[in-house]
Parts: sequence; structure tokens; C-alpha cells
Amino acid sequence: MYQTNSYPDLIILGSTGSVGTQAADVARGHGIPVRGVTAHRDVAAIEAQIREFHPDFAVMTDEAAAADLKARVADTGTKVLAGFEGIREMLGTVKTENPMGVTVENSILGEAGLAPTLYTLEAGHRLALANKESLVVGGELVMALCHAAGREILPVDSEHCAIFQCMRAGRPEEVRKIWLTASGGPFYSYTKEQLTAVTKAQTLAHPTWKMGAKITVDSATLMNKGFEVIEAVHLFGVKPQDVQVVVHRESMIHSMVEYNDYSIIAQMSVPDMRHCVQYALTHPCRSTAEGVMKPLDLFEVGKLTFARPDTETFPLLRLAVDCITLGGAVPAVLNAANEVVVAAFLQEKIRFCEIAEYVTRVVEDMKGVSNWHSYDSIMEADGLARQSARALIGHNERGFTP
Ligand code: MG
Repeated sequence: MYQTNSYPDLIILGSTGSVGTQAADVARGHGIPVRGVTAHRDVAAIEAQIREFHPDFAVMTDEAAAADLKARVADTGTKVLAGFEGIREMLGTVKTENPMGVTVENSILGEAGLAPTLYTLEAGHRLALANKESLVVGGELVMALCHAAGREILPVDSEHCAIFQCMRAGRPEEVRKIWLTASGGPFYSYTKEQLTAVTKAQTLAHPTWKMGAKITVDSATLMNKGFEVIEAVHLFGVKPQDVQVVVHRESMIHSMVEYNDYSIIAQMSVPDMRHCVQYALTHPCRSTAEGVMKPLDLFEVGKLTFARPDTETFPLLRLAVDCITLGGAVPAVLNAANEVVVAAFLQEKIRFCEIAEYVTRVVEDMKGVSNWHSYDSIMEADGLARQSARALIGHNERGFTP
């Protein structure tokens, strides 16, 4: 028999990463049963989660790590599986007596998260989506599956979680515009000249959000905001031109929805990713758990500011809008090129201002893939874009091998 719980059980994909561990915090704070955890190869961290949460399944996508983990947790009841097939098997066979079923929180990094998103929807689970590449790369496929299953995705991205909440104030057909907020990143108000001198350390010092290295670089280039426009277009069925990015330095409003009557509904809270992780894992309830979230003190906030983004200095935001307007596999090309180029930047092989330059060149060369729509053709476009980005960097730089 099952203890009546107001929340679904949980499987965390990418449970040892930044968002994954925050999902584990929320599960701990709310007593949510964790049925499965997965990681690439961080065996020690997964072992600790197995001993704390006693999940039915643990999956290591790296085969050798799976073998290692199996030996380490032989004394537990957790079944260890390997590879992406292991994730698929777990999602297809997991059982619960919880009448609310299972929420799968996908916080896998990068394009590798797309297949597990599709497996989750195929298996009929609720999807809490932190892997934005699922929508950037495969948005058309993901939303088609989602609509066929009559499900809605719970976004675990502060802006989209905010929009999701603001959408409850009116009907979808009454939405006039989405105001997507951006912190502006560490280089807000910099000129192109100033950007030529910025370092990796400066780039990784984000003013408000604590996140992984790759997404912090994407925040600094505004690529992340561009990806978020693409996510919003898919999640909320709006046109690219109906998503207006607005720089809001305080990061207290997490996004807004404007309706036909010019009413703008905003969602505010302390900037803490756990807020939207918690919202996704407890929806449609609002959690009353003490100690997880802090209240927002408006007297302390004082004032809020809004400004237009500078897409001349940060052209990747505009490029993302062009890519989603073209559609097909073009957004996948954008993402793949950006992954390779950012990896090169993090290895200090290229300069910050070169990120946009290389990504733009790859996309310009591959706009023809706008009529590629199937999973296989998207993966092919992804591979071609990576090759092209590596070749460009390799030509110009000092022995870059991602
Ligand atoms: Mg975000």
C-alpha cells in the first residue's frame, strides 16, 4: 500500500549535475520518493544518491561506470543499467502504486537529452524539462509527441516556468505577446571593443544565477536567451516575433505574458532555480514545505528596471530568432555549432568575441537544412554542424581537439 502523497514519484535524469542535485534537494525537502537516478560517469555521487534515496533504478550512460557502480551497490536493492538503452528500459518498466504516477525530471546536459525526453513521452510519464536542447534541437518532434499524448510539459527553466504560471491568467488564444526576461549577463552594456578583452573567469562570474559552466557562457553571449526564445515558441505555440526579450537586471521578474487587453501578468520570486524545480515537481499544487524557498522582500528589492537587449553587440540572440523562423533542423545546427565553439572557449582555445563569429558562420553555411524534420535528419545535421565548427576552429587555432 502506498502512503498518500500529494506529489508524483520522481525519476531524475542527470541527477548529479547542477539542476539534478537541486531536484534531489526538492525531493528530500518534500519526502518525494525517487524511483530512478542517472548520470554519465560520476559513480561516487550516484552511489551516495542510491544510499540516500533507495531508487529502484540507477543508470550510468558510460558502460564502464555502470559496471563499477553495479559492484559498489550490490548490497542495495537498486537495479543498475547502462547506456541510453538503459534509460529507455527504466522509463518503460518503472512501476509505482502512487496514483499520481511518475514525473521524469530531465536535466541531462546538451543534445544528449533529446532521446530521453522522447522516451519519457513515449512511456506516458509527466515530463519536467530542464534540458532545453530537447526543444531547441527537437522541438517539432517533442511537441508532436506531447500533443499526441495529450500532455503538457512542465518547464524547469525559470523564464518558462514563469510563463507557464502567467499562462494560467488567460486563454492561449488571448495571448498577445510573451515578455522573456534576461539578466543581460556579466557583460551587459559592454561595447564590441570591450568584449575582445574579456576572459574565461569574467565570463563564468554570472551576476544572479548559479549554474553550470556551459550555460553560464551561453548567458554571457545571450545565446541562452536565444535558445529560450526557441523553447518558448515550441512550449507555448507562439510565433518567434511574439516573443520579446527584455533586459531586467534585477532578475526578480522571471518573465511575463501580455494578453489582448494589454494586461501584463508577471511572475516574481527570489532568483533560485529550486523554485521552478519545486513548481514542476509539485504542480498542480503549490508547495508549503518550509526551508526550501525564501520569501521575496519587495521593500528590499526597491525598484525594477527594463531595457532593450543589444543584439548588435550580442548577435547570437538575433541569430536564434532567425533559426527558429527557418525551422526544421536549423535550430539543431545552431545548438551543435554553439556546443563545439563554447567547448573551445572553455579550453581557452578561442576568445569570447569569436564564439558568435564561428557559430554564425556554421549556421550561414547550413541554412538549407530547414526542410529536414525527422529525428535521423536532425541528428545528421547536428553531426555535420559539429564537423563544420571543428574544422573552422581547427583551421584558425592552436590544435583544438574537442
Ligand atoms: Mg533560463
